[in-house]
Amino acid sequence: MNTELIKLTVTDGEEKYVKAAELLRESQVVGIPTETVYGLAGNAYSPEAVKRIFEAKGRPQDNPLIVHISEFSEIFDLVSEVPETAKKLANEFWPGPLTMILPKSDKVPLCVTGGLPTVAVRCPSHPIARTLIKISGLPLAAPSANLSGKPSPTKAEHVYKDLKGRVPMIIDGGECDEGVESTVITLAAEKPRLLRPGNITLSQLKSVLGEVEVDDAVLNPLKAGEKVSSPGMKYKHYSPDASISLVRGDYKDFCDFVNEHNDGETYAMVFSGEGEGVEIPFITYGVDRNYRELSHALFDSLRYLDEIGAKRCFVRCPDESNDDNLAVLNRLLRAAGFKVIDV
Ligand code: AMP
Ligand code: MG
Repeated sequence: MNTELIKLTVTDGEEKYVKAAELLRESQVVGIPTETVYGLAGNAYSPEAVKRIFEAKGRPQDNPLIVHISEFSEIFDLVSEVPETAKKLANEFWPGPLTMILPKSDKVPLCVTGGLPTVAVRCPSHPIARTLIKISGLPLAAPSANLSGKPSPTKAEHVYKDLKGRVPMIIDGGECDEGVESTVITLAAEKPRLLRPGNITLSQLKSVLGEVEVDDAVLNPLKAGEKVSSPGMKYKHYSPDASISLVRGDYKDFCDFVNEHNDGETYAMVFSGEGEGVEIPFITYGVDRNYRELSHALFDSLRYLDEIGAKRCFVRCPDESNDDNLAVLNRLLRAAGFKVIDV
């Protein structure tokens, strides 16, 4: 399949969207920019489109997709009830990087939800994603536009590398602002529960809802036979080819530890301005204590390790006592397959 890569800017007129919207109406899939990461979009009402999404990514069928809408009012087509909590969260954080899980309506096919009775819904803020939803007139099911298991794409070139020849079109809208996927909260459980941390932080959610539980799977591997609230949590995720280890400890101990691995194939990933004490090759991923900077750089840095042929990488662990770092920690733990080294 030929993959067309088209560049769009926020000032482009609707005529530039016609071909992508046509493809979506024909149950084809299109790689699109959002403010979180690039998504692989298809008509959420079309089982044929949904099948194509799973096939292009190589995604396990039981890992449900998030459905994207352009206005809050469109949620009523997708879910069977809209509780007050959902209205409050939407009022505060939509459009933006927050996904809510609610009981699904009959219109949403089970293939979108991985067979679950609930559906994940998000209203993105990215102008290109919103315009495409509006012009196509469709709710768009869109998981991250990477090959399943790889780091999520934050640039169109990442999508092209993973999905070239597997999808008919990728829209290049520049680099994603956030860099990590949306925060996922379920409102279909007894109490609101955070299933996946993102840049809408736990404290922001608590400021609207009061109490919010944090699912065990956010920071811990699944135990054998454990029932999973969010099927995506059970799969290997965000992994570059290089073997990642998260290293916990202060800067001096980190340097002493990594400097013992000066073999030419091992890299360190440190906070900006920390290169001085590191004697092995290193890359940086933003300023410690600025979770937005870390999350913005994270996946691009993980993909860069593959580009430079790193075999192994020791990553400086962000401050675990700060809940704002939950999103970066959650992704790093999965990229590392939960390998954590205390120094
Ligand atoms: P991605 O589309 O790659 O950003 O992944 C979507 C995430 O949302 C995965 O972790 C899914 O398991 C989660 N998700 C989607 N729908 C549901 C649902 N109905 N219930 C629980 N988790 C969901
Ligand atoms: Mg994903």
